[in-house]
Amino acid sequence: MGHENKAKKAHVLIFPFPAQGHINPMLQFAKRLVSKGVKATLVSTVFLSKTTFSDPTSSIDIQTISDGFDEGGYNQAGSPDVYLPTFWSVGSKSLASLIKKLVDAGHPIDAIVYDAFLDFALDVAKQFGIRTAAFFTQACAVNSVYYHVSKGLLQLPLPGPKVSLPGLPPLEVSELPSFVCHHGSYPAWFDVVVNHQFSNIDEADWVFLNIFYDLEKEAVDWMSQFWNVMTIGPTIPSMYLDRRLENDKHYGMHLFKPKTGTCMNWLSGKPKSSVVYVSFGSMAELDVVQMAELAWGLKGSNCYFMWVVRESEQAKLPKNFIEETAEKGLVVSWCPQLEVLSHESIGCFLTHCGFNSVLEALSLGVPLLAMPQWTDQGTNAKYVEDVWEIGMRARSDEENGLVTREIVKHCIKESTEGEKGKEARKNASKWKNLARKAVDEGGSSDKNIDEFVTKLLGD
Ligand code: UDP
Repeated sequence: MGHENKAKKAHVLIFPFPAQGHINPMLQFAKRLVSKGVKATLVSTVFLSKTTFSDPTSSIDIQTISDGFDEGGYNQAGSPDVYLPTFWSVGSKSLASLIKKLVDAGHPIDAIVYDAFLDFALDVAKQFGIRTAAFFTQACAVNSVYYHVSKGLLQLPLPGPKVSLPGLPPLEVSELPSFVCHHGSYPAWFDVVVNHQFSNIDEADWVFLNIFYDLEKEAVDWMSQFWNVMTIGPTIPSMYLDRRLENDKHYGMHLFKPKTGTCMNWLSGKPKSSVVYVSFGSMAELDVVQMAELAWGLKGSNCYFMWVVRESEQAKLPKNFIEETAEKGLVVSWCPQLEVLSHESIGCFLTHCGFNSVLEALSLGVPLLAMPQWTDQGTNAKYVEDVWEIGMRARSDEENGLVTREIVKHCIKESTEGEKGKEARKNASKWKNLARKAVDEGGSSDKNIDEFVTKLLGD
């Protein structure tokens, strides 16, 4: 508060990893800065700028850099082993050119808020004498696990069966991020989350966490020993929380085109809390057998369901599934998730537990049914069930490793009608209030953002 006039001069670059789950929270953070009088410029990639669906009324300027794959982005590269190293080498040169261009054009930059994955941004910023803030889009618990691995404090492969880390509940090895518990599974991603994330973070002026303090108090306190940590989340469009940013209902940048009319019309006829919303986010891929088990489990549950199956995944749906379930189900390629989650017809969210999806459900008071797939999702699912108590996990069958149709049916019943579901809904509504308080005026996250803005101006 009170920064509006002076802060007009401050200009911050916001640089997310070019994926939906990283762009959304950082773009939303940029809007908060703008609301406090700061100029914010989002750094996107050439490829994304050609293909994303952006809000034309947005208050955020967008500039682009090359990730080395201007025609097709991540998919063009064919694998993370190709994409990630190329992005690092091409991206750092391209980012330096962008900064030079902006400075030469009379738009100097006061700070760069970069995705903690993208450590090269800090090195580039230092060349220009620009201050830096690393932004973690993942849970503090997940970052803590990666930190311990990076420092050799957790040796891989883990002997198991449990791991005990400061500020975290005891975790089964299987509850650790997949890159750690399935050591060797995605070496290029492992390199990013374990090595790059912490390579130079000690030099960052600030470290932002997309959570609010109450959500992971002990882990935040532990992390604060090392860095100038600030919780600034949850970065959910304001109209769902504090309502201080007028008309702020969407993040503003979709990588896939949402079928808004179809989804909202379909939901509008459904009874209160009767629909299971199902989504695995923007990247996770189910195998054909798992897809079929889930499909028949949804059908067998006899509940209404809305299932987001990205176009690239739709060929895996069982033959005739859509026709056979037309009375009860809707399959769409992408939806406006926040609008859907906030609709009163939604009873529970069957999710892969991407961190944004978890934060969104928590902030909107929707109970979760967790079906994690990879990366940080298994750890998020553990927290959903045992720490935040806002849902339950659909555990895979030990024999075949599948979440079978029977398990899906049982868990949906438990989530929508059982005691676990009721408890989860009650807890979700408690967290929703705490989330709102954190971002509301004077709340813990709001104060941290104010402090950042003040510092930008002060020094
Ligand atoms: N999302 C959306 N429409 C969909 C599915 C997802 O708008 O049909 C949004 C969702 O609201 C969230 C983001 O995409 O903000 C996905 O991020 P998350 O961290 O949950 O998962 P990821 O895609 O990174 O695995």
